[in-house]
Amino acid sequence: MNSLRKATLLPQDQKIKNIPFSKFSASGDELAHVTEAIASGGIIGDGKYTKLCQTWLQNRLGSKKVLLTHSCTAALEMAFILADIQPGDEVIMPSYTFVSTANAVVLRGGVPVFVDVRPDNLNLDEAKIKAAITTRTKAIAPVHYAGVSCEMAPISEIATQYGLRVVEDAAQGICSRYNDQPIGSYGDLAAFSFHGTKNIVSGEGGALAINDPLLIERAEIIWEKGTNRSQFFRGDVDKYTWVDIGSSYLPSDILAAFLWAQLQQADSITQHRKDVWNRYHLAFEALEKDGRVRRPIIPQQCQHNAHIYYLLVDSLETRTQILAHLKRSGVQATFHYVPLHSAPAGKKYGRPSGKLNVTEDICDRIVRLPLFANMTFEETDYIISLIHESLL
Ligand SMILES: *Cc1c(COP(=O)(O)O)cnc(C)c1O
Repeated sequence: MNSLRKATLLPQDQKIKNIPFSKFSASGDELAHVTEAIASGGIIGDGKYTKLCQTWLQNRLGSKKVLLTHSCTAALEMAFILADIQPGDEVIMPSYTFVSTANAVVLRGGVPVFVDVRPDNLNLDEAKIKAAITTRTKAIAPVHYAGVSCEMAPISEIATQYGLRVVEDAAQGICSRYNDQPIGSYGDLAAFSFHGTKNIVSGEGGALAINDPLLIERAEIIWEKGTNRSQFFRGDVDKYTWVDIGSSYLPSDILAAFLWAQLQQADSITQHRKDVWNRYHLAFEALEKDGRVRRPIIPQQCQHNAHIYYLLVDSLETRTQILAHLKRSGVQATFHYVPLHSAPAGKKYGRPSGKLNVTEDICDRIVRLPLFANMTFEETDYIISLIHESLL
């Protein structure tokens, strides 16, 4: 297929022959902050850099309290302890998500109840939540796919009406907004990821935003192995002891020092990703008009962070062909989640609510294209030309 075009395109472009799906870019200050943390002797958790990052996130989100964690997975585990999920309790979530959303519920003995996603932005379909509610429902876990917000206004309304907790899986949502308010500020709790493949990174890393002030004290205890260590260090209690369940959820201050450098650049990193995202989007407009692909749809009330650029193609066959052509040309593109309701552990521990037609349809047709903070327009244009070639 297209051997002639490839032959003329590739040798001229040696420089851009290998484009990974994702690549982290250093802001430049990471080493200086890490060195400073080491020199000052402050490498354990809850140190100077942890506090700097937490305050930055609190201000950004307008959140009462943010705790850094060693991953978003850890933040989700904390969230479902705080949401008081007991054995048999149900949590409504999309099936089209990463395992950690469901796993954190299952670790409490809870049951993930999988609801379909909206065809436009692949987010939890708020219109299907009510049908999934039973007497065992305790919480809703909206996942902001690709950094595009779920419909938080109706979701919050349903939660209030039925007395449910809202735990936002905001792993992909740093610097995104909904109705001009940050993602992560809507739920009782919200979990962020700083994993190396996300927009703002520290290799592994995450944060839990606690928006219900009544949960802050317990959150600090769970974070610190079930002890009241945080209160002790503030001088609120005179003994430091075991008071509740918990684990070691806090990262080393070395990791926080790295993250601090990234947070300082959060806006410029997001802006560059948006420039690349917009370049893709404009370039594929004609293909969409011809009915060859469907581009991402961003509702007007959502200001996204360009976490993912994807295309929906007509079939699994077309996707396989595109991925193969890109791979041959040195470009690593990829598909995304295996829906959780069809995964072995999803069948064992969770259950679907109704038909998940959209989820089952889109999971075979989605192609995610490379997108990272220091990606050049030359690289973007090369990928755009490869997509056009493979759809000829
Ligand atoms: C990345 C991701 C996670 C897990 O984040 P970690 O920091 O790697 O634990 C959870 N949920 C979603 C939706 C994600 O994209």
